[in-house]
Amino acid sequence: ITILAIESSCDETSAAVIKDGKVLNNIIANQKIHEIFGGVVPEHASRAHQQNIVPVIATALKEAGVSKKDLNAIAFTRGPGLLGSLLVGTSFAKAFALGLDVPLIEVNHMQAHVLAHFIDEPTPKFPFLCLTVSGGHTQIVLVKDFLDMEIIGQTQDDAVGEAFDKTAKMLGLPYPGGPMIDKLAKEGNPLAFSFPEVVMSGYNYSFSGIKTAFLYFLKEKKQENPNFIEENLNDICASMQHALIHILLIKLKKAARDLKINEIAIAGGVSANSGLRKALQDLALKEKWNIYIPDFQYCTDNAGMIAIAAHYKYLAGQFSSQDVIPLARMSF
Ligand code: ATP
Ligand code: MG
Ligand code: FE
Repeated sequence: ITILAIESSCDETSAAVIKDGKVLNNIIANQKIHEIFGGVVPEHASRAHQQNIVPVIATALKEAGVSKKDLNAIAFTRGPGLLGSLLVGTSFAKAFALGLDVPLIEVNHMQAHVLAHFIDEPTPKFPFLCLTVSGGHTQIVLVKDFLDMEIIGQTQDDAVGEAFDKTAKMLGLPYPGGPMIDKLAKEGNPLAFSFPEVVMSGYNYSFSGIKTAFLYFLKEKKQENPNFIEENLNDICASMQHALIHILLIKLKKAARDLKINEIAIAGGVSANSGLRKALQDLALKEKWNIYIPDFQYCTDNAGMIAIAAHYKYLAGQFSSQDVIPLARMSF
């Protein structure tokens, strides 16, 4: 079974080919245009998807040595994401499936972030907990089976990726800020500064409070010393990253203990963060967890994860009809 998968939910145009459960490639076109604006501009994103989608898919098929007539299904991200961006991938997938007379498979982007763990060995055993941390979401997911998962906790306001990106913006760093904070934090002292951490009920999160606290912290320090940021950049990044990771892991630990689950995974763009990876490894030793951390290319948005999700949906016979429409908000 050979499936072409397309991802276009935000600002990455990506295509992947999967054959009998093995992801053959993962072609990703990043959109440079958003750097100028310091964030993703939806209108520019959908236009860039339109420009990228044909060459990205052509490259994926060619590299995999697969021709159009070899395809058994076309998969695409239905949501959640930017509607204009999702429309490009969805429309292409529908037209392609119709033209080739093969089934269409819709994929939930957040489920796909979780299922990225099944692309390569080792794979987590069911049931496992997945902390999905990305630009738009922060969730603790109880994963009972490939297509059976439940969100047991999530952010009530900002996502943790957003907190990373906004912190970077306040520090005058370029977009996307997460990877930059990660890099600078490596040279800094994580205990140099502390920020108030709001603890939510259950397994929920909140990141808007710490973001505001950080804004006032910078304001105050800059009044005392106009060069405060320049002189303390590494320490500021290390301290903020440390606080964000601490918040993330408290709830993950609570969920794992309450549910008595020791198979623990992380997914999404922020799972690329080296501080989070290290902190998770340390915690795993104490809690006796088996942890699963995705390969870097499968942390941020990619079609490889859409492809593996589509593979399981194909096996389960879950197909979409031609009247499927993309959804900016989509749960599971
Ligand atoms: P969602 O998946 O919620 O729809 P998204 O698709 O935009 O959102 P991803 O592509 O999964 O999100 O992740 C992007 C986010 O990951 C950005 O906020 C980015 O700053 C963050 N990120 C990427 N690498 C790192 C890193 N090394 N450290 C911290 N954050 C990072
Ligand atoms: Mg992105
Ligand atoms: Fe994502």
